[in-house]
Amino acid sequence: MKIIVLDRDGVINFDSDQFIKSPEEWKPIPGSLEAIARLNEAGWRVVVASNQSGVGRGLFDMDTLNAINEKMVKAIGQKGGRLDAVFFCPHAADSTCACRKPKPGMFLEIAERFNADLKGMPVVGDSLRDLQAGVAVGCKPYLVLTGKGAKTQLDPDLPDGTMIYPDLAAVAAELTA
Ligand SMILES: [Mg+2]
Ligand SMILES: [Zn+2]
Repeated sequence: MKIIVLDRDGVINFDSDQFIKSPEEWKPIPGSLEAIARLNEAGWRVVVASNQSGVGRGLFDMDTLNAINEKMVKAIGQKGGRLDAVFFCPHAADSTCACRKPKPGMFLEIAERFNADLKGMPVVGDSLRDLQAGVAVGCKPYLVLTGKGAKTQLDPDLPDGTMIYPDLAAVAAELTA
């Protein structure tokens, strides 16, 4: 089974330092929805794993997060793609939970849900913690330069072997070539 794990904000949709707090604020990065459809066509199951500490901070509630994710799922569907699962950590940044990236809790959940091997599984993110969470459990890190990616690219802690691509469309092109 081929599974690819995507961060959400800064990978699929434009990120905001003020958080994505409503469906209206969720706007796809050009080419990202088509990229997911392209991955699906090539046999990839696409799973999202996203830190959403805005919930824990009280900036938006679970109903709103669900509405945002529904908008995303619908937008992907309109391009002929689908997500096999959406995982998120709703906890605040100071939480000791096991799921907030760079902790790998969501990846362990993905492995369990799909009975999948994490070793070599592509993880796509724009922040260091996305990649660190995946690398901690053997995933292969892909950095995109959308969102915070351009800044992350300069981080001395970037995991060894990180593959760097302009955006999700370029990652999908590589993985489906
Ligand atoms: Mg991000
Ligand atoms: Zn958490």
